[in-house]
Amino acid sequence: MTTAPAADARALFVDLVGSEPTGVWSSPGRVNLIGEHTDYNDGFVFPFAIEHRTYVALGTRTDGRIRVASTFTPEVVEVALDELDDLFPARRDEIAEWARYPLGVAWALAKTTGSDAATGVDLAIASDVPVGAGLSSSAAIEGAVASALDETWGLGLDRVALAKIGRTAENEAVGAPTGIMDQMSSMLGRPDAAIFLDCRSLEADVVDLGFADAGLELLVMDTGVKHSHATGGYGERRASCELGARTLGVAALRDVSVDDLPRAEELLDDVTYRRVRHIVTENARVIETVRTLREKGPEAIGDLLVASHVSMRDDFEISAPELDTAVDAALAAGAIGARMTGGGFGGAAIALVSHDSVDQVRDAVTAAFADAGYAAPHIFTVTPLEGARRDN
Ligand code: ADP
Ligand code: MG
Repeated sequence: MTTAPAADARALFVDLVGSEPTGVWSSPGRVNLIGEHTDYNDGFVFPFAIEHRTYVALGTRTDGRIRVASTFTPEVVEVALDELDDLFPARRDEIAEWARYPLGVAWALAKTTGSDAATGVDLAIASDVPVGAGLSSSAAIEGAVASALDETWGLGLDRVALAKIGRTAENEAVGAPTGIMDQMSSMLGRPDAAIFLDCRSLEADVVDLGFADAGLELLVMDTGVKHSHATGGYGERRASCELGARTLGVAALRDVSVDDLPRAEELLDDVTYRRVRHIVTENARVIETVRTLREKGPEAIGDLLVASHVSMRDDFEISAPELDTAVDAALAAGAIGARMTGGGFGGAAIALVSHDSVDQVRDAVTAAFADAGYAAPHIFTVTPLEGARRDN
């Protein structure tokens, strides 16, 4: 694991302020093992935190202002803390988009706790979470800033409360309508474990994955593709799920079971039915994955991962030819299981692979992309590791 971004955050701070920071905090990106598009249906997801992290070096200042800098951009943004409430959400356009994440977290913390204990701060940010690759660099920056400010301002919020702060910042200050999965995994991650999250109650169980003992690795196969209908497709899927729930008379598709599907098929048009069937069976697969891990171990979850992919490809129709190629080639080369991960229409697929066949799977996927005339994928392993922490 690299420690370079921690040193980069500290160095950026020293450059900016001319003295050492009081501390450095960090929070990781994440990969979702299974449970796709279930979050906004009040359902279940099963993500884990990874070794890529965002670091924040913090020092206090006495003038009630907050200044943010990141190695991501040469721009430095500074505002008075008591201006934040005017800026968010109404005048958010005046703030550079990247700076809405850290400033939005400060705003959400102040608003939620009603605290006037907030002192001014300088924040210097550095990260090795790739941006926009589906690994949630946004939750990483939110988690790091929320942890740093919570401690500095003496707020004493717990990890779930800090995850909610991150979501509030992202929804209201940034203006991105996302669920809470990313923030929960970034805050609650543990080594070789994933977070079984009930998106309705926000109850979260940390479940051992046992990948290390079983000699398994998780490969991320980033296709580098983002199809143009990604944003519209996401909205359409959400609308189909809402229509399905309304027609079936439930608050959310979480309340529909596999046994209810025949009735759903009678009541819904074909497309809506298939969207509903994905959500209903995917929720069941998340629960089954957790049970299988506990009872049989990680080698036994492969079929569930594959079934999840097939459901996204055929019923939810959010896969892409590149994702199908990655999944098929990985399975043909001996992966235990594989599926696309994230919102779909591009992005990354994952494969669960024995340590000895990592190179074989990587080479097979690379070759399949070349054969199909696709740009070379970016393939790397990720390790489930701990969530937000203070580093020094
Ligand atoms: P992701 O899938 O990586 O979470 P998002 O679009 O949700 O993609 O969030 C990416 C955005 O978060 C970036 O465009 C940037 O505005 C902000 N961001 C993430 N990491 C950093 C960083 N280290 N420094 C500054 N801004 C960051
Ligand atoms: Mg994000």
